Amino acid sequence: MNEPLTFRQSVDHMVQHTMSVLDLDSGLRDVIRSCNSVIQVRFPVKLRGKIHTFKGWRATHSTHRLPVKGGIRYVPYADQDEVEALAALMSYKCALVDVPFGGSKGALQIDPSQYDRDEMEMITRRFATELIRKGYMNPATNVPAPDMGTGQREMAWMAGTYKHLFPDDINHQACVTGKPVHHGGIRGRVEATGRGVQYALQEFFRHPRDVADTGMSGGLEGKTVVIQGLGNVGYHAAKFLSEEDGVKVIAVIEREGVLLNPAGIPIQHLRDHMVEHKTIRSFPDANFEEDGRKALELECDILIPAAMEAQIDEENCDRIQAKMIVEAANGPVTFGADQKLQQRGVVILPDVYVNAGGVTVSYFEWIRNISHIRFGRMQRRHDEQRANQYATLLQEITGAHLSDAARDAVIRGADEIDLVRSGLDDTMRLAYQEMHNTLHGNEQIHDLRTAAYVIAIDKIARSYHDVGIY
Ligand code: NAD
Repeated sequence: MNEPLTFRQSVDHMVQHTMSVLDLDSGLRDVIRSCNSVIQVRFPVKLRGKIHTFKGWRATHSTHRLPVKGGIRYVPYADQDEVEALAALMSYKCALVDVPFGGSKGALQIDPSQYDRDEMEMITRRFATELIRKGYMNPATNVPAPDMGTGQREMAWMAGTYKHLFPDDINHQACVTGKPVHHGGIRGRVEATGRGVQYALQEFFRHPRDVADTGMSGGLEGKTVVIQGLGNVGYHAAKFLSEEDGVKVIAVIEREGVLLNPAGIPIQHLRDHMVEHKTIRSFPDANFEEDGRKALELECDILIPAAMEAQIDEENCDRIQAKMIVEAANGPVTFGADQKLQQRGVVILPDVYVNAGGVTVSYFEWIRNISHIRFGRMQRRHDEQRANQYATLLQEITGAHLSDAARDAVIRGADEIDLVRSGLDDTMRLAYQEMHNTLHGNEQIHDLRTAAYVIAIDKIARSYHDVGIY
């Protein structure tokens, strides 16, 4: 049997497959596919009286737009191959959803559960110092964000480290995104990727022709969902989809096993339980089973892998029974499995689209940081005043009476979270519509992943054509 492809090879194969549809110069193909640069850093930190050495990476895939953008993950198994694959996905993702950034990604080889808060702060600040000094973290050229194992806390430490080194950089806050709101973050960033998964599915279900390809019909209401990973992305996606769209989450797969309940698992209750007890085993409202991987094969409408890469591979893909797979994680389906699933007609909403909500709202945060003003601050009251005048005018012309509650609802100006959600929803809708049109407008394209890559690579190629290569 052939050696399984690495994550980077898997992404590369998917891109090569797409290149065969596009009429591109072979030199340009190579420029677009390859990672521009990658650094590996090793740095010592003295902890508990002993010196520990840590290893990390940051890869820059494409600089056709600056800054380059992409998360930093803290996982024990991190390696350069994975970081390069993820950096490439970031370039395609940004291009697909019209976020004017290049692609980058970073990782630190660490198990965060082994260190306390102060130790994590020391390690993170030291890692950030390495990245900053080597030009891999800067508001104008390379802007990290959270990913697996990192969140607002780590981003605040990184931003603080940059500010300490460059206090006279007026745009210092824009050196990372995903910061806490009171430290230059934006409302809605924490939930953004999960919210984007919800908007992606809502848009998909507005296209009956595409829904019919899955063998399903109707809307999201009542659809059964199996989700893998109840971290940042999985939790928010599962919560919004079940609480707002009426889907039934019948299984939640985590590291230690799977929780099953055909009547639906209350997601907020489960998350509270996980935070309090640090385990899913004792959760009272579902049955626990040890074999989490097996649960990917459960019969359901929608399977949402939201944990990590290569979860659906050539070993288990033939047993997957879901009608559609929604890739909330990066690279959860390997190239080989993707080919086989396509042949079986399983519809896959690809990662470069589905989880683009994170980078989209990061883009909004970066704009907020470099413009030094909260969205809506200038116009909100003005909008309310005008809406109030319209409401009064309407009452005078029609003689109808508006209740106070109705008037308040009509005149309320948008605040930052409303604008962020509206911008994200618009982004996810437009990107899907472009994918839909590309899929149905080109006989050589048979799946949404190829459609997404065709759009992304075409935009990157056009950018190189317009500006030239130098
Ligand atoms: P996270 O660390 O917050 O959550 C990951 C969850 O998956 C954890 O609960 C973990 O216990 C679980 N998990 C890990 N390995 C598992 C396994 N083998 N089986 C079952 N469960 C497992 O990470 P996250 O930020 O939610 O990221 C998840 C995925 O989404 C990653 O692929 C990441 O690259 C991608 N992503 C994240 C963001 C973001 O904004 N955080 C944006 C885009 C893409």
